[in-house]
Amino acid sequence: MQILNLVKTKMRTSSRLTKYQIDLISYTTSKHLDSWLELSEFPQYAKKWFLLARNEAFKSDFSAAKLGCVIVYKNHVIGKGHNKLKTDPIQKRYNEKYRDWNITDDSNLIVHSLHAEIDAIKHIPYPVMQKLDWKHVEVYIFRVAPGLEGCTGLALPCPACAHALQDLGIQKVYYTTGHLDKPFGCCDL
Ligand SMILES: [Zn+2]
Repeated sequence: MQILNLVKTKMRTSSRLTKYQIDLISYTTSKHLDSWLELSEFPQYAKKWFLLARNEAFKSDFSAAKLGCVIVYKNHVIGKGHNKLKTDPIQKRYNEKYRDWNITDDSNLIVHSLHAEIDAIKHIPYPVMQKLDWKHVEVYIFRVAPGLEGCTGLALPCPACAHALQDLGIQKVYYTTGHLDKPFGCCDL
């Protein structure tokens, strides 16, 4: 909880997510990202990981919901990923178990497109995964606000991804949000 203490005016814990055994820590802002990064109290290392997650988000296939995820262990990135249009069996399994809504394509088939968190987990090399102490792993998720490329949007993990992270034993997840009035993305350029 060190980050939370350092930037308590800028971050908050989401109480509605206490049903998970992980800390989901949000960063709420109405500022342009560059303004946010200038906040002196925000730890440099957290900026670094959020910037990397942003770089990942820009690689997303999606036009409106670009999300990137970086997984960090002992100050090293061990996995990176972004949401993709392609379907994925792990995503499908978690979606079916934990989500009560589904996205369908034109033919009404349910689409289990890959989320950034699962993509990042899948990119952790197997030998690294074998040696991890998962409770010291940190996850950073960044969402680019739709149409506002420098701004943050809501990157709260969906129930499927939250459970996947929890099942691994991950305890800390940091994610961006938009402004409270515009949770999916806002900035005051
Ligand atoms: Zn998800």
